[in-house]
Amino acid sequence: MSLPRVHGACRGAGDPRHSVRSLAAVKAPAVHLRFSPSVLPEAAENLRSEVRRLLEDTRARGVWFAEGLSWWGRNPELSRALGGAGFIGMTWPRRYGGAERSQLERYVVTEELLAAGAPAAFHWFADRQIGPSILRYGSEAQKRRFLPPIARGELSFAVGMSEPDSGSDLASIRMRAERVDGGWRLNGSKIWTSYAHVAEYCVALVRTEPKSDKRHAGMSQVIIDLRNSNGITVRPIIDLPGRHDFNEVFFEDTFVPDDCLLGNPGDGWAQVTSELAYERSGPERFLTNFHLLRALVDALDGSASPAAQREVGLLVSRLWALRAASVSVAASLEAGETPNVESALVKDLGTNFQQEVPEIVRRLVAAEGIDDRNLLDILRQVVLAAPSYTIQGGATEILRGIVARGLRLR
Ligand SMILES: Cc1cc2nc3c(=O)[nH]c(=O)nc-3n(C[C@H](O)[C@H](O)[C@H](O)COP(=O)(O)OP(=O)(O)OC[C@H]3O[C@@H](n4cnc5c(N)ncnc54)[C@H](O)[C@@H]3O)c2cc1C
Repeated sequence: MSLPRVHGACRGAGDPRHSVRSLAAVKAPAVHLRFSPSVLPEAAENLRSEVRRLLEDTRARGVWFAEGLSWWGRNPELSRALGGAGFIGMTWPRRYGGAERSQLERYVVTEELLAAGAPAAFHWFADRQIGPSILRYGSEAQKRRFLPPIARGELSFAVGMSEPDSGSDLASIRMRAERVDGGWRLNGSKIWTSYAHVAEYCVALVRTEPKSDKRHAGMSQVIIDLRNSNGITVRPIIDLPGRHDFNEVFFEDTFVPDDCLLGNPGDGWAQVTSELAYERSGPERFLTNFHLLRALVDALDGSASPAAQREVGLLVSRLWALRAASVSVAASLEAGETPNVESALVKDLGTNFQQEVPEIVRRLVAAEGIDDRNLLDILRQVVLAAPSYTIQGGATEILRGIVARGLRLR
């Protein structure tokens, strides 16, 4: 078997879009994965101290405390403080409440929230994917109505994609939206809908036309007011760590007005898939349990055996490589590209890394005789949460399928 040929792998090579040519090149036309070496600009790095200061101040005032499950915690007060400082919707135009900052500046803020273990779920989905979708596909009225309160940290959204028999195979969704006078009537259900029991709105992918030979046709996105719409039942699902974060949501003749259709009828598939690059490549795919690694280093406190030092060194170097790949995807998003294959790769590598961290920490705790309450508390929660990393936002096999297709290996 011939090895892949590597082009322009080091910074400063002639081609500004350094790339790695895949094995597929052997039997198919050239396919490139684009991971351009990217460095966060000074303006982005300068934000770091501002975010840290805000997090320290709010923590000192008792607004929040670090939870073992990292950003999955939901804290409206912290989100409002972040919104007030311009750290939510920060890439959006000012007229919609944004700060007109770059994706790379947003990246730094996200990194700092994760590194601190700050509970950010209240604004997370709206900031990461719903807001950008509204900005891209929404009407002027929707932008004015939803984006400013999201950016202020006052409005929380749930993501309604998965259904009981449609997770990985999202195109098989059955929830229907039928045309009625002045709007749409919804029937069906969604599952694993994180925070639907507390969020104000949900953006759901629904079928506005019956299934046809064209698998991806006939779907649309609707914005549903979860608090004030008729016919909605939300049932809790308790997860492995014992938390009530996600739900099953039933819709029975629920009415949504015309002005809550997001984008054009029938464009739903293109719209949700364009959200995925944002959903998959962010630092949450490799930094969600950074606090565990940090607690391990604190607990070892300079007394680690050579074997433990080697393990920690390997983890940190992998983390750094993942970060470089993820920053590169962020730069590509900033350039207006849609790096879906690269995002899938970062998510796969990152979430597998995150699952290995608690396993390695568990081994080191035993081998090094560590008895540190903080580390063991975090480890216990992370062990229970870790199986979800490779499922949410696209399961491993699905991501590898996307990468294989992107490389024309299948
Ligand atoms: C913590 C968490 C939060 C979530 N939050 C949300 C949310 O807010 N909103 C939302 O809509 N969804 C949410 N989800 C759902 C998530 O997106 C789905 O669980 C995910 O897409 C997988 O779908 P599924 O659970 O139906 O599994 P399935 O699709 O049934 O997959 C089960 C297994 O089969 C494998 N598999 C499936 N199809 C194939 C194939 N063709 N080839 C090879 N292998 C295959 C999968 O890789 C997986 O390992 C959340 C999930 C988790 C874990």
